[in-house]
Amino acid sequence: MSISFDENTENTIKGRSAAHGISIGPAVVIKSGSKEISPKAISESEIDSHKKKFCSARDLLTQELQKMAVGLEDKSTSEIIEAQQQIIKDPSIQKLVFEIIDEKHLSVDFAVYETFSSFIEQLKESGSELFSQRIIDLEDIRDRYVSKVCDYISELKIPEGAIIIASKISPTELVNYYEQGAAGLVLEKGGITSHAVIIAKSLSIPCLINADKATRRVLSQGTIILDAENGGLILDPTDKVLKEYAEKLKGAKVAIKADNNGCFETKDGHPFKLLANVEFEAELPRVSEKNAQGIGLLRTESLLFGKKLRKEVAEQEAFYTAMLENVEGPVTIRLFDIGGDKNARRPYKEANPFLGWRGIRLLLDEKKLLRSQLKAILTIAGKYPGRVKLLIPMISVVDEIDLIRSEIERMQGALLSSGVSIDENLPIGIMVEVPSVALSAYHFAKKVDFLSIGSNDLTQYTLAVDRGNEKIHRLFQHYHPAVLKLIEMTVRGANKADVNVSVCGELAGDEIGAACLMGFGIRELSMVPNSLPGIHDLLSSRDKKDFEELAKKAVDLPSSEELEEYFREWKDRTGQ
Ligand code: PEP
Ligand code: MG
Repeated sequence: MSISFDENTENTIKGRSAAHGISIGPAVVIKSGSKEISPKAISESEIDSHKKKFCSARDLLTQELQKMAVGLEDKSTSEIIEAQQQIIKDPSIQKLVFEIIDEKHLSVDFAVYETFSSFIEQLKESGSELFSQRIIDLEDIRDRYVSKVCDYISELKIPEGAIIIASKISPTELVNYYEQGAAGLVLEKGGITSHAVIIAKSLSIPCLINADKATRRVLSQGTIILDAENGGLILDPTDKVLKEYAEKLKGAKVAIKADNNGCFETKDGHPFKLLANVEFEAELPRVSEKNAQGIGLLRTESLLFGKKLRKEVAEQEAFYTAMLENVEGPVTIRLFDIGGDKNARRPYKEANPFLGWRGIRLLLDEKKLLRSQLKAILTIAGKYPGRVKLLIPMISVVDEIDLIRSEIERMQGALLSSGVSIDENLPIGIMVEVPSVALSAYHFAKKVDFLSIGSNDLTQYTLAVDRGNEKIHRLFQHYHPAVLKLIEMTVRGANKADVNVSVCGELAGDEIGAACLMGFGIRELSMVPNSLPGIHDLLSSRDKKDFEELAKKAVDLPSSEELEEYFREWKDRTGQ
């Protein structure tokens, strides 16, 4: 008997599978985020610990702002940080927060939220233009404060095998829970390519998204079943259901197995490469387990936003070395892609962060940060010649390539003159994430050694759909024919410039996507390690002409739905 998750019922919550698998375990509900903080009563004996949480959060925030200020050169940004530091130091804030905790016996997260919100309301009511920046500062500080005091709450130990239920979660928090033994993730918000979800997939944590009101409906500690195969959550399962799922779980574990010998080709002998996307060291065991032929995308933002900041050159070098030592084959290191949903550094709110100060745009303004990363990467590239590739995120105009190239050459010159060896032939590539690059691919490709298509952002910017917004997740269609057309154009431009193209967005780990990409002539795909065996099976069991036929048809179809239908028929027909 299998349970249907078509509708929410008293005992089930439906969601959308974002990382497949099944988990049975105790639920841990994480209440974080600051948007809807409601008053929570605390007992007399908890008062001191809540006041301490406030003081620790204040100290942490102060340190964070100090660190930020050191790396910043832009005057207006430094002024914003200075203003935020003043707010944090203001003794009246502590006084009001403590009054709420002491006198009303309410929790610290609510006390912080309430204190800042009433200031914000007063400023708003004044209607003064002059105060508008101050309101943004206050909101920003409030949100960070609340997430800091909630971090304390969420850093409580979780039981082994726990299924985490949250509204949303940061990648760092997720890795922290994974290291404590978390076995499942259920989110109310988020899209399939939102950052934490990508990490859940990579860590093989079954994950369900868009699980409406899950944080309110699930009770911490009760045993629940997360069925991310069929898109649902079972609360309070009966013994019979538990037994059935325990059986399924056994079967699922056996099925996850690498099934290649390190050399990949289509049925008719055309070679292709499959590599892994990696962000945290915790992911490394799976890279070799699944026989990836290298790291096709090393995201580096965890160095800046992780629990332990690792901004220093030596700390960065240690991170890159761990990757090179634990994985065979090339390692493509991407420069910090800060901004968008990876925004911890942004000292103020932008109206449209995904269209704003992100990736290369930010790095070219923040030279100190850029140069420290270049120094680390170029030093490591010299130690492992021929194995490192450098990837630049969020390029949208060709000038950015000239500017970053001159920074790279400058750093290489400086290293050479201080006696450090470099890799003279270090390949330099750019991400194709913005439609302008796909549309003018030849002009961009001429200036670099390789292109790597970031289909997550390319989809977001082509279909105008925020990749993390659950309200419009239906529209995030990464194999939409329009996106595929842009990819086809990119390949044409790159071929003309004689430059290799690979894909490192989630599309590469999707069956429909991978098959179409092969059909466009792309021979290098990078994905979360768990997707490797399935994609290998699909690509090695068909001929090159089959993929070409599919890709040709795909770009002419009107919608993703029709492509899905065509793919099913294609798969049956060509799989004989
Ligand atoms: C992408 O945009 O497809 C990509 C791989 O980069 P990220 O998901 O880190 O933005
Ligand atoms: Mg991207």
